[in-house]
Amino acid sequence: MEFKLKALTPVWTGGVKGKNDKLHVTGIKGSIRWWYEVLIRSLGCDACNPASKNGNEKCSFDTKSFQKTKNLREELKKICPACNMFGCTGWSGKFILRIKDEKGRIKTNQLDRKDQFLIEFIEIKQFDPAEISLLKITLKLIVDYGAIGGKTIFKPSEIDYKNVLNYGEGRHYDYGVIGRSKDANGIDISKIPSGRIYYGDTKEMIDGYLQDFTNKTHSEDWPDLRNFWFVKGLCIDRERHNIIVNRDETHPFKNYKTRTGSLQIWLGGKQEVSKKIFSFHGIKPDAKIKKGNTHAESDLISGVRRCYGYSKKHELKEVVKLVIEHLEGDYSSLSKKIICGMEVLDEL
Ligand SMILES: [Zn+2]
Repeated sequence: MEFKLKALTPVWTGGVKGKNDKLHVTGIKGSIRWWYEVLIRSLGCDACNPASKNGNEKCSFDTKSFQKTKNLREELKKICPACNMFGCTGWSGKFILRIKDEKGRIKTNQLDRKDQFLIEFIEIKQFDPAEISLLKITLKLIVDYGAIGGKTIFKPSEIDYKNVLNYGEGRHYDYGVIGRSKDANGIDISKIPSGRIYYGDTKEMIDGYLQDFTNKTHSEDWPDLRNFWFVKGLCIDRERHNIIVNRDETHPFKNYKTRTGSLQIWLGGKQEVSKKIFSFHGIKPDAKIKKGNTHAESDLISGVRRCYGYSKKHELKEVVKLVIEHLEGDYSSLSKKIICGMEVLDEL
């Protein structure tokens, strides 16, 4: 199975000494897995947290039990659907991920803006038809709403000219937004369905497949599509982000203000705890924005400007309220544009 995509911004996959020197496929695979988990959880099935340091929060394949029972099907139901596909301790997963350039050669250097590329899932253990559909839905979610790879937490500056690559070592630069590949006539050749996938018979098949899993690893803090919000065509700049999470701009360590609520600290993140708000300005790296000037529409890359984030269970309303409240004014139409996870699920 393969998909034809285009990098709308560079994709950061990490590397030696923090340099984006070559393409690390594991960075892409990890990101696809993260979105796959987000999707699985929203469909009412548990997906573990492979990044956790706590062994109880992630699956491991029971090799001893398998040696006794020899029943692979039964043993695989004890680890979560994401571990089935992507692997965990004792189980290597079902596919190898390969990234190729537009001429079909294995891509070794980083994905740069405008690069057309092929993302290939090489099946080494047979996929269930439901797993194929789930992968397609995941790719659709990433391309239409999300982002991939590292450095997706960089905040756009409220000062336009700072958003280009050559300002401050690109500290406000966009990374990780990818789109569908199109042919010379503008026809979508990505192989990601544009219509609904999780629908009718396919929905029934996916629901039936997910029902069989018995693993119980979950936390209400883990990202679940049902608790996501998305805005296409708008971004949240650094200044507005700090207001939303109640951070003190003037403090040397940009600390939270005193009496900041736990929800805001959770959203803003802290050391080793990720932020929960992601935002992309979409300004071209070579935009001719001079000091003191604001960007013109022509300085934007089409389709990149977007933001999204997630909340804990039961707190989505409050988070959406916070986002809208602090963005009203220039962003007065935001309340109409913000769309929540369940609505997105209806489009996938
Ligand atoms: Zn798992």
